[in-house]
Amino acid sequence: MTAPTAIRIPGFRGNLITPDHRCYDDARAVWNGAVDRRPRLIARCSGAADAAAAVRLARDRGLEIAVRGGGHNVAGTAVWDDGIVIDLSAMRSVSVDPVKRTALVQGGALWADVDHETQAHGLATTGGIVSHTGVGGLSLGGGIGWLMRKHGLTVDNLVEAEVVTAEGEIVHASTDDHPDLFWALRGGGGNFGVVSSFRFALHPVGPTVMAGPVFWAAANTTDVLRFYRDFIADAPDELGTIVRLGTIPPLPLVDRDLRFRPAIAVVSCYAGPVEAGERALRAIRQFGTPLVDLVGPTSYVDHQSGIDDTVPHGWHYYWKATNLAGLSDEVIDILAGHASRATSPRSYAAVFHMGGAVARAARGSTAYPDRDVGHDMSIDAVWLPDQDDTVASVETAWAREFFDALEPHRAGVYVNFLDADDGEDRVREAYGDDTFRRLADVKARYDPENVFHHNKNIQPPRIFADR
Ligand code: FAD
Repeated sequence: MTAPTAIRIPGFRGNLITPDHRCYDDARAVWNGAVDRRPRLIARCSGAADAAAAVRLARDRGLEIAVRGGGHNVAGTAVWDDGIVIDLSAMRSVSVDPVKRTALVQGGALWADVDHETQAHGLATTGGIVSHTGVGGLSLGGGIGWLMRKHGLTVDNLVEAEVVTAEGEIVHASTDDHPDLFWALRGGGGNFGVVSSFRFALHPVGPTVMAGPVFWAAANTTDVLRFYRDFIADAPDELGTIVRLGTIPPLPLVDRDLRFRPAIAVVSCYAGPVEAGERALRAIRQFGTPLVDLVGPTSYVDHQSGIDDTVPHGWHYYWKATNLAGLSDEVIDILAGHASRATSPRSYAAVFHMGGAVARAARGSTAYPDRDVGHDMSIDAVWLPDQDDTVASVETAWAREFFDALEPHRAGVYVNFLDADDGEDRVREAYGDDTFRRLADVKARYDPENVFHHNKNIQPPRIFADR
């Protein structure tokens, strides 16, 4: 390995963090504490020009490149052993144009940054449900969230992007400029370059929304899910819901004696007037005997960050993911049976209700492929850093067995929920053959040497053919 201090990037204005730097361990840490990689250099960029200089240096030196947005991906692809990390974490500015209703967002921003600035104008765009998730990776994979049924996926709201290509050039991509690249960026992940900024369309949202979770005892899971299936069948687009199967997390408003009790939750956000949200949510809140009902008028910003502390940085995570066409009786039985087998009180499964504007966008309009599925789902095994390997094995096995049981009902997968052991077959599954091939063609134009491959990789056809 080259001596750490030997690397300099001509013209670089950000911070270069080498293994001898006092911030190195913090800088190489990602959200998933189970990921422990040691890059040779972390190039913390101050802007697109720095990212371009870092790409050129990496290519000159033959260094592996990883790109870090929010550092939140469960697979930890934002860092790589012995390579260079193009770290955008210092690039978090968000600038709102309230007249045009757009936001210009730097590539390392978190959703908390976007929500904070856009809600100052009563505006929002579809973002992730945990506010410490990065805009970069989430947007490039598709972007699902509370607002998607009303306003589309994050990628449906992308207006343009500034991209540092594999050649180290800075280009703009939109429906007019580099339209093939623009199409690929909207679902194809970090395969096509470093996105230094995104411009998103915004919509009036809140600032107060009717939102929150209702929890029932886990013993009621089957009944709740059957009721929920009917409840969402004619849900308005404004209503975003997620089912969470696990325990009641220790949220501030939850009584101590209820914390970590096995439970099923329906978590909601109504992206419209509060009174209409109250009406839309009445039936689900009145179903059975909830243990806790935390639904109420709340600020959209607070709702967006409401579960942040249930998935903090540094805990250890392992995910399995699948999409589901719908909630048949068989699927409901599997969800109810397997959710209760997790031994860690922090492990859970999340089932996102899709449809609405997501399904109405034309298939193929973006590289996000699965617009017709009923639900995106992730099974999230969670354990603490100081717990031993046995706990890790047990929780990991729980997620795998849960996933295996769903095999007959699987309907694709959301690429951003794939973990490190999900290989090329699952990336193909995520895109389907047609989208995968089209992405590979764009890859051949913009990154024929597969410089950006520490991601859920789309190989250019030439490299694929050579193997
Ligand atoms: P990073 O780990 O920084 O990046 C992941 C990859 O994305 C990188 O390897 C790189 O290839 C690419 N990348 C990131 N930024 C850039 C950039 N600016 N330019 C080029 N490439 C880039 N997804 C949803 O859609 N909706 C959700 O509600 C949601 N909730 C989540 C909650 C949690 C707790 C977690 C862990 C994940 C969640 N996700 C959600 C998944 C999320 O979309 C992915 O984890 C995503 O990769 C996170 O983006 P990031 O920038 O933080 O990740």
